Amino acid sequence: MKTPRTYFRKNIDVMDGYTPGEQPKDMKYIKLNTNENPYPPSPAVAKAMKSFCSDRLRLYPDPLSCELRKTIADIFGLKSENVIVGNGSDDILTIATRAFAGENDAIASFEPSYSLYPVLAELQDCSCIKIHLKFDGDFSIPANSAEKAEAAKLFYIARPNAPTGTLFPIDEIRKICRKFKGVVFVDEAYADFADDNCVGLLREFPNLIVGRTLSKSYALAGLRLGYALASEKIIGGMMKVKDSYNVGMLVQAIAVAALKDKKYFNETKKKICRTRAFLVESLTVKGFKVCGSQSNFVFASPADKDGEGLYRHLKNNGVLVRYFKGPVTGRYVRITVGTDSEIKTLLKFI
Ligand code: PMP
Repeated sequence: MKTPRTYFRKNIDVMDGYTPGEQPKDMKYIKLNTNENPYPPSPAVAKAMKSFCSDRLRLYPDPLSCELRKTIADIFGLKSENVIVGNGSDDILTIATRAFAGENDAIASFEPSYSLYPVLAELQDCSCIKIHLKFDGDFSIPANSAEKAEAAKLFYIARPNAPTGTLFPIDEIRKICRKFKGVVFVDEAYADFADDNCVGLLREFPNLIVGRTLSKSYALAGLRLGYALASEKIIGGMMKVKDSYNVGMLVQAIAVAALKDKKYFNETKKKICRTRAFLVESLTVKGFKVCGSQSNFVFASPADKDGEGLYRHLKNNGVLVRYFKGPVTGRYVRITVGTDSEIKTLLKFI
């Protein structure tokens, strides 16, 4: 029986919902479409899973994820009170949106950027002020962004940006934090692959939140663990909004093990950055316009600017990349940095 749509709140009724990247079941692709890590997670993860006693699952997990938050805090020289953890960083973004933006409020984000931000606004029945990035062959923050976002309570900035890979200059972020009256959420899902990050700015700005995930650089997209760093006051407020048990017991144990294996993390990260350089160079030689990437993916436009055509051609040959419709983004495809061998196969079809 068809559910009458009118049961829903109006904003839910009219919205489409977020569309995640394809997770195909029909055949085996070289999967370069959702920015997963091509390498397995740290061996410490398998060890933690093996030594985990399943009897413990009878009990609820630690609602405050104390050990995990302490592990994260130690990495950054912060206190546990500066850390909140969630079911992936998407959960953290949901918590932030619910905490800072209500009905008839507004959030702000750049365009193009992570397409979940406007969806979170729709869920919350608030509007999303979209500030178009300047495009002059690459993407950059336009002047007066803080002023343009003025009416918003929360400003989402992905840095490195998705899908473009751009690492906006840290001074631009500083300027926005200084001028913008609301909360600035710098989404650093890909920051481990970048030259710098905004964690240091937390000391300067009480209105800043930095979001991170274990999905990319720790090769744990399937685990679902994200976190945010901010002042005690901000984190304290966000803790009120989260589900009581938003991170399972097994997830907490595995995340701690992965975060403590610094050596493996650094090796994997280095391999991905090396392959990224190879991919950028090879695409450039083939006539692509490649955006400066500081993440584990590359945003590249073929000479004929037909992003969709290239996406289809690659898919027909068993290589999945991501294509985003739009007058500018439609000229590009986003390619996740895979292993050297996956990238060599991709290049054969280009
Ligand atoms: N932020 C950005 C910019 C992303 O691209 C993604 C991945 N889709 C996320 C956050 C969410 O990652 P996760 O929920 O897996 O931590």
